[in-house]
Amino acid sequence: MKRVSIVVPMYNEEEMIPVFFSTIDKVIAGLPNYEFELVVVNDGSRDKTLSLLLEAQKSHPHLVVVALSRNFGHEPAVCAGLKTATGDAIIPMDADLQDPPEIIGKLLEKFEEGYEVVNARRASRKEDSFMKRYTAGKFYELCGKLSGKIKVPSNVGHFRLISRRVCDEVNALTEKNRVFRVQVPYVGHKTTEVLFNRAARAKGTTHYNYKSMFKLAFDAIVASSVEPLGWPLKWTIASTLKTGLSVVTELVFFILYLTGVFTGISLLAFGIWLIINVIFAFGTFILAVLAIYGMYLARITLETQNRPFVIIDKVYSAGGH
Ligand code: UDP
Ligand code: MG
Repeated sequence: MKRVSIVVPMYNEEEMIPVFFSTIDKVIAGLPNYEFELVVVNDGSRDKTLSLLLEAQKSHPHLVVVALSRNFGHEPAVCAGLKTATGDAIIPMDADLQDPPEIIGKLLEKFEEGYEVVNARRASRKEDSFMKRYTAGKFYELCGKLSGKIKVPSNVGHFRLISRRVCDEVNALTEKNRVFRVQVPYVGHKTTEVLFNRAARAKGTTHYNYKSMFKLAFDAIVASSVEPLGWPLKWTIASTLKTGLSVVTELVFFILYLTGVFTGISLLAFGIWLIINVIFAFGTFILAVLAIYGMYLARITLETQNRPFVIIDKVYSAGGH
């Protein structure tokens, strides 16, 4: 029987716990062909979450509770759960039932078809405010542009199914700036998706405000791409072209001056133009220095991330063995 681990981070979720367990219990009961493990990570909650979880353990023999030493945040909490999970398939999800456990069956169907990553993608974000939808849209657009060969799927959060192998490969990534939603596409492997409608939070309040959303977006971009470090190089090229053009105009002015075409007023214009161009030339020089720094910094970033350079799916050896 295949083992499935459901990984759930919880921070001050005492209100959610009863409804969470009653929902998840029903889903588990409806999938008798799998052996379930529920890994709940208590992320340093200040309310009764931990004691309620320990209480729930009495009636849930498959419940593993990982208590963190303090509040670390959503990403680190999920990471701790992924390191603890022992299943053949692992499904991280939020405690507030915004990720509907009812579609776990659908995720498992895709897993049985041989997919190692099954993204649960929000079909719509109707329940979100206009601002959240807009910023999320822009974020995924930018991520898509920056992440090159890695395809970061839009509107997919933590909720997805990953195989044991993908989980191990994500756990093996050594970077401290961990953003699960960009780590999984980095690792790759056969991927598909299941669409769902995201409900509003069942109980309690969100732990994300605009500041933490911005931080997540920034972390995701920095974790998935060193492309912005290459921007000064592009700007240097544009700036050098501009400097080249202005040198030509300076020469034309100079020739006009020598041939006596210039009057006093155009000489003044020439002087101002010269000053502007000298400033631009300095700007180009500084940009060039930044471009060089950027190239080294990008390499340092990639080296310190120390990610596996390439991940092999399978070697089909000669003779088909
Ligand atoms: N969470 C956590 N640590 C934190 C903040 C949140 O473990 O510091 C958990 C929280 O209990 C929930 C999940 O992360 O299970 C998502 O949080 P939330 O629902 O507040 O985020 P939103 O859905 O509003 O983006
Ligand atoms: Mg939520």
